[in-house]
Amino acid sequence: MKRQSMIEYGEPLQETEVETPAPTGTEVLVKITHCGVCHSDLHMHDGYFDLGGGKQLDVRAGRELPFTLGHEIAGAVEAVGPDAAGVSAGEQYAVYPWMGCGACAVCTRGDEHLCKVTHHLGTTVDGGFASHVMVPHPRYLLSMEGLDAKLAGSYMCSGLTAFSALKKVAPYLEEGPLILVGLGGVGMMGLRFARALYDTKIYGADIDPAKRQAAIDAGADEVFDPSEDGIRKTVLKASGGGVSAAVDFAGSEKSLQFSQSVVRKGGCAVVAGLIGGNFSLPAPMFPLRALAILGTFVGSLTHAREMLDLVRAGKVEAIPVELRNLDQANNALTDLREGRVIGRVVLTP
Ligand SMILES: [Zn+2]
Ligand SMILES: [Zn+2]
Repeated sequence: MKRQSMIEYGEPLQETEVETPAPTGTEVLVKITHCGVCHSDLHMHDGYFDLGGGKQLDVRAGRELPFTLGHEIAGAVEAVGPDAAGVSAGEQYAVYPWMGCGACAVCTRGDEHLCKVTHHLGTTVDGGFASHVMVPHPRYLLSMEGLDAKLAGSYMCSGLTAFSALKKVAPYLEEGPLILVGLGGVGMMGLRFARALYDTKIYGADIDPAKRQAAIDAGADEVFDPSEDGIRKTVLKASGGGVSAAVDFAGSEKSLQFSQSVVRKGGCAVVAGLIGGNFSLPAPMFPLRALAILGTFVGSLTHAREMLDLVRAGKVEAIPVELRNLDQANNALTDLREGRVIGRVVLTP
């Protein structure tokens, strides 16, 4: 099998070739048809996340080089192990990449993505910038029926992140409204999921007027510019004392500062974005405001299935896709890093 692999962190990807493995036990060998190129691939390629104040979170541990990035994978079953039930060669699937050990309490309650064993395709084990990928069990294969093959893999990342973040605010929404902060690709998916899931007022916030307008066009009730003077008071006034929940799809110091500041007493702010930075809040504010700040990381297999049902029901508008050959993986990373990509670049091995 051919791969576009990271030979050294931060250096251009190179083609590597290894023997295509044969599936054993419950394994399923998938011939990749599409793999999306994502911002998290850039972080993995860098080898670190920015923590603000000049600090970095090193994410190079536990990964042997050469390593193959790519976690937004869709493809067709090529071969199945003797114990892999329910799938046959030729069937098309999106691959759930956030696998755990499959056996611990966290995994058995359905939260494999939070297992301390991270068997994550394209981030801890070799992923989808390749002609093939080995999937350890058929349960990670999600039906592609009614889905656009070009985008099916990408839903496992940005779509799932947006959907799962939105599910976390459910217990807080009785008094509404909900505000979504950061209206890029993930935030806009979040807006559409929020519209489908909840019957509450939904606000949007972004510093970019074009993104605010796009949110209005997609059904946001009101939009705000977080960089405007006195914006906190404006939001508190509009919402009658604060929103009940905020989802921060940016995840920067400024966005989280703003997101939590407009949440009313007893409300919550969910952090989904990974832009980076350092956020601080005086400790007494947590009890005095009965404030919850939660992180969310991708989502569970159950959420993945529920999310794909909403996609099939037409609740998510397709993003623009540019297809490129697998050997263009490195250029795709560079273009993404330099802000030249609109929508998603999807590699076609
Ligand atoms: Zn991704
Ligand atoms: Zn586990």
